[in-house]
Amino acid sequence: MLDDSITVRLGLPVLRILEQWELENYFQVKVIYLRSKANCLKCGKVTTKVHDRRLQYKKDRGLRDKIVLLKILKRRFRCPLERKVFTEPDEVFGLRRRSSRRFREYLGREALHQTVRRVAQKERVGEGLVRTGVAEEIGRMLKAKGVK
Ligand SMILES: [Zn+2]
Repeated sequence: MLDDSITVRLGLPVLRILEQWELENYFQVKVIYLRSKANCLKCGKVTTKVHDRRLQYKKDRGLRDKIVLLKILKRRFRCPLERKVFTEPDEVFGLRRRSSRRFREYLGREALHQTVRRVAQKERVGEGLVRTGVAEEIGRMLKAKGVK
């Protein structure tokens, strides 16, 4: 441990940090969900049987001018009843997303008072991701107003 190191909370209490690295332009944090079991998506039966794990790379909001990359060890569980394999829930990122919800939320809010291009440049992401964030933010605002 370096003498001048500090600890920053990830702020995602459902995840456990397994490893972390600080590189020149990146923070990389390897994480896994704290859960040890999951409910089968089909029948609802609880299972602890892990079928396999795979590493997925997701972007999170930057920290001190560095990109934060979360490497999540995603598990697939096996239902004991039907022997079907299913992926564990992913509330931090969302289904098939390559960024965290909170990062998209941040991008969407930033783009309400700056251009999409400006936000994309500042956060070093594609404009498409910023637009996704804006769409999700508008969806949340409409939902809060009771519009379906
Ligand atoms: Zn099942």
